Amino acid sequence: MVFTLEDDTSAFTPNTLDDHEASRGWLGIQWSSFFSRDRPPRLAESLVTLRNQVNQAAPARSTASDGWIGDRAHRRRRSDHNPHIRDGQYNVVSALDITNDPDNGCNCEVLADALITGKDPRIKYVIWNRRIFSSVVTPWTWRDYSGSNPHIKHIHISVLADKSKYDSSDEWTISLS
Ligand SMILES: [Zn+2]
Repeated sequence: MVFTLEDDTSAFTPNTLDDHEASRGWLGIQWSSFFSRDRPPRLAESLVTLRNQVNQAAPARSTASDGWIGDRAHRRRRSDHNPHIRDGQYNVVSALDITNDPDNGCNCEVLADALITGKDPRIKYVIWNRRIFSSVVTPWTWRDYSGSNPHIKHIHISVLADKSKYDSSDEWTISLS
């Protein structure tokens, strides 16, 4: 299944200034083409799988800070929330934000720990609670994150811009609570 904006009215991430170490490749894409019929945006399959797993494990969770495609402010900077990967008839977004809602079974601290421990080869980087880890920069080690959004309301997950990674639907090894 191809997951596009038309499937998801809450697709736009409400989280501003939330990306870091993002891909450079999006600058050539005009905002208008984000919504072109010729090449609409879609979410990477690996992140569709991850979100489905989170939703199944925590069906009552808040999605207040969820989102995958960047809003208009994102287009002015590098962000993996921009549909920066050209793939056939789609432009692919390679980042997902998931709301922290421990009271309803989605504890992003626990999720972040599971992701850094699991070292899933699809991960590019993860930002959570003023920290970032990457598979590329100082691999699989937490570093301080000083971006203006501290990432305490949501976790940010970016996947690598390699189709065998970003479109892999393999199940993730995650814990949420
Ligand atoms: Zn994000």
